[in-house]
Amino acid sequence: MIKYVYFFIVSCCLVSMTSCTDNVSLNSPNGLVIILKADDLGDTTANWNRFMKIVIDNNICASVGIISKNVTTDGSVKEIQRVSEIRQDNKFPAIEFWNHGYTHSKINGVTEFSGSDTENQTNHIQLSQNFLNKTLLAPCHSFGAPFNRSSGVTSKALANSPEINVWLCYQKNEKHFMKEWKDPNVKVINSTDQHIILNTDYLFLHDISIGQVINNYEQDKDKPYILIQIHPAYWNNSMFNKFETLIHYYKDRHLATFMTPYQYFRYLHKEYTAN
Ligand SMILES: [Zn+2]
Repeated sequence: MIKYVYFFIVSCCLVSMTSCTDNVSLNSPNGLVIILKADDLGDTTANWNRFMKIVIDNNICASVGIISKNVTTDGSVKEIQRVSEIRQDNKFPAIEFWNHGYTHSKINGVTEFSGSDTENQTNHIQLSQNFLNKTLLAPCHSFGAPFNRSSGVTSKALANSPEINVWLCYQKNEKHFMKEWKDPNVKVINSTDQHIILNTDYLFLHDISIGQVINNYEQDKDKPYILIQIHPAYWNNSMFNKFETLIHYYKDRHLATFMTPYQYFRYLHKEYTAN
């Protein structure tokens, strides 16, 4: 009899350990955190629809940078509104739309957030925030400058939109951010920190070199996160296939957890589900 009681207790412990492990895997990453940063959405296209469908069908998540002035049709507005409602199991959006500037302009080498003053940058950030929040109904907490080009005043301009918590940047080009923007790669994020900066690890323009990413896994797995910048608008069938292969490389082996930028910000603040 004692043997059966013992067996019963051990079985219960194993069941509770298993469910405990499941809880942990829901609330904390299974290895590396991967943040996908897809740039340059204006009006929706077949490529964009295909990209977002792959993300949602594979039960992962991604972030998509919107150029507000390039969203011109009712159909695009409605589609972005519809997609922004789609949630992961943890209630965070499956696709997080973020502020990729208002015009994405580049004139004589001067881009929207380089070579212009604080007032101009503030204005463009806020025009885009208003469009995302009020027209697209996609609350926006993240920003990334067009062409990964910002200047010494971009941090000040961003401070005028306090709802922006995450700055996606390519620190090789963009070295002007102020000290209050902390990179979790190098500094511990405290509960009071409202500004984090995430650095792009992989920057792909027309292609997506999955070999490069996969070969780097041994180094990447020790980082808190990696950020992959992509441009699905340029992809052909082969690129889409490579993207799915990359998703499966991480997912099927349980090597990583995909998060959106603002979800990662909340995760660092120990908030594992959205309201
Ligand atoms: Zn861009």
